[in-house]
Amino acid sequence: MKRKVLYLLVVFALVLGTVSVVDANHSWGSYHWARTANPFTLKLGDNLSPSWDPFLRTTSNDWSLSSVINTTIIGGLKNARTCKPTLGRAEICNYKYGRNGWLGIASIWVNGGGHITQGIVKVNDTYFNSAPYNTTAWKNLVMCQEVGHIFGLDHQDEDFNNLPLGTCMDYTNDPIPNQHPNAHDYEMLEGIYTHLDTTTTLSQTSTFPGRGVLEPRDVNLDEIREWGKQIKKSSNRRSSMYEKDLGRGDRVFTFVVWADQEASTDNRER
Ligand SMILES: [Zn+2]
Ligand SMILES: [Zn+2]
Repeated sequence: MKRKVLYLLVVFALVLGTVSVVDANHSWGSYHWARTANPFTLKLGDNLSPSWDPFLRTTSNDWSLSSVINTTIIGGLKNARTCKPTLGRAEICNYKYGRNGWLGIASIWVNGGGHITQGIVKVNDTYFNSAPYNTTAWKNLVMCQEVGHIFGLDHQDEDFNNLPLGTCMDYTNDPIPNQHPNAHDYEMLEGIYTHLDTTTTLSQTSTFPGRGVLEPRDVNLDEIREWGKQIKKSSNRRSSMYEKDLGRGDRVFTFVVWADQEASTDNRER
């Protein structure tokens, strides 16, 4: 009898262990924008103050080197503080969002068919306005990574102690070698965007969504508690990913890069 209980405990521990393992590959989902041809163009709505514009331009140029994706920067439609999404495109915003712990976030809305319908990127000037984040390298890294998430890309490496991979999709303590995508990121994009769809979730004009696309439910992402459950975390707690179920098969995924001091506070707590 005792032996049976012990056996059950071992099985339980194994199951728990399996569930909590951080998934190191890119299999969290091959979520993608629906489109009928490659390359496709994703509109990046510029809600940035002028000092951020060069970083968005760099990111847009970098990702447009992909054989499947083009990005184009257009006028933003949003108040940067609230940074509400627009169907069929991405909105890119900066603001002093406060000492909320995060340096940057990217959220993508995914419909029941696994297609991305809209995305937002927010970079937090409360941290970027002062050291160590007030550098070109940090701004390039975070902008490039968050926009990469908008395409459906995951991180390449979530172990901070590894050597830098030379991509902005790396989780590094040193931004200098990681300001741009690398060849593997472009390969990943080609993988995600291999098949074509019969519909599109990309907006066909500057203001209207693609036809036949259901309006995803709005959700206020200002507060960490609105992001849903944490489904991934990097080994040094520098970044994490959240998933919120919106019902009807709709979900919103939020990727977070934590500011350093908050990450170390978190480490001490655990
Ligand atoms: Zn598809
Ligand atoms: Zn990220």
